[in-house]
Amino acid sequence: MAKIKTLTEFITDQQALNPGAKGDLSRLLNDIAIASKIVHREINKAGLVDILGEVGQENVQGESVKKLDLYANDQFIAAFKSGGECAAVASEEDEDIVILDGLNSQNGKYLVSIDPLDGSSNIDVNISVGTIFAVLQRKDTNKTVTKEEFFVAGKEQVAAGYVIYGSSTMLVYTTGNGVNGFTLDPSIGEFCLSHPNIQTPVIGEIYSINEANLNTMSKGVKKYVSFCQQLDDNKNRTHTARFMGSLVADFHRNLLKGGIYIYPKTTAAPLGRLRLLYECAPLAWIAEEAGGKATDGTQRILDIVPTDLHQRTPYFIGSTQMVEKAESYMNE
Ligand code: MN
Ligand code: MN
Repeated sequence: MAKIKTLTEFITDQQALNPGAKGDLSRLLNDIAIASKIVHREINKAGLVDILGEVGQENVQGESVKKLDLYANDQFIAAFKSGGECAAVASEEDEDIVILDGLNSQNGKYLVSIDPLDGSSNIDVNISVGTIFAVLQRKDTNKTVTKEEFFVAGKEQVAAGYVIYGSSTMLVYTTGNGVNGFTLDPSIGEFCLSHPNIQTPVIGEIYSINEANLNTMSKGVKKYVSFCQQLDDNKNRTHTARFMGSLVADFHRNLLKGGIYIYPKTTAAPLGRLRLLYECAPLAWIAEEAGGKATDGTQRILDIVPTDLHQRTPYFIGSTQMVEKAESYMNE
């Protein structure tokens, strides 16, 4: 039997390769792994909600039942607080930054942006959901942390990743040395290296877009979609469409199989729907580290400097040649 490498071992090995590293980032990544295991456990019994109690009610243990996205948010923030490496969190679930006041958090070296539960409306119908996270390093740990410290381009991230709670639970992350994926073995409670050095195909067959919105999208997007729908000389289709409306799940499939995911501006969402800090930027770095590409249609996502914690952006991400083709229509 091949030796299993756990996430904890992998993180320790990576740290040893970098003599300057002090281990704080490794501890922070381990905090994320622990919180995601707790979220995994809770998500896997979500179908029992009618037995265990509805949201807003008290369950049999007399605890009030929380919406799972709030539950997930609490778990990650609690893990960061007790870890002490993180000074503040920008979360989808909180209007403002959450300043952590754990034992060492005041001088925590890192900031975390997080979508604690992505695709949460899919929980009710048993479709994969996720967590997306980005880690920034603070420039000055002696200052009181402010939200402006989050307003740096995505290319400044020091770690980024996601967890997909699917038919298996997987954690995929990068610190700038490629992308590695770990699958949770629930019998031993460990994430095990299952997808070392993930590379995304330069071109794929899948396009992922909410086509019901097509008539509210720009000419360029319409042209790209109709390009995807063209037949080849033998009257065979050239692409295939896949869209679950669960960003992490759609992204993860396309990363492994090759494809493009598009959430452009629409009339209803003139700035796009997805959020730069804790959805678009972390996945953009994963895509780039795996050989793919991410833009807003014209500009590289990792170059955009945010001015708001919950800023939205149009999003084109996936296989490089597909993103470039879409961009060429956008720029016509
Ligand atoms: Mn969410
Ligand atoms: Mn989300």
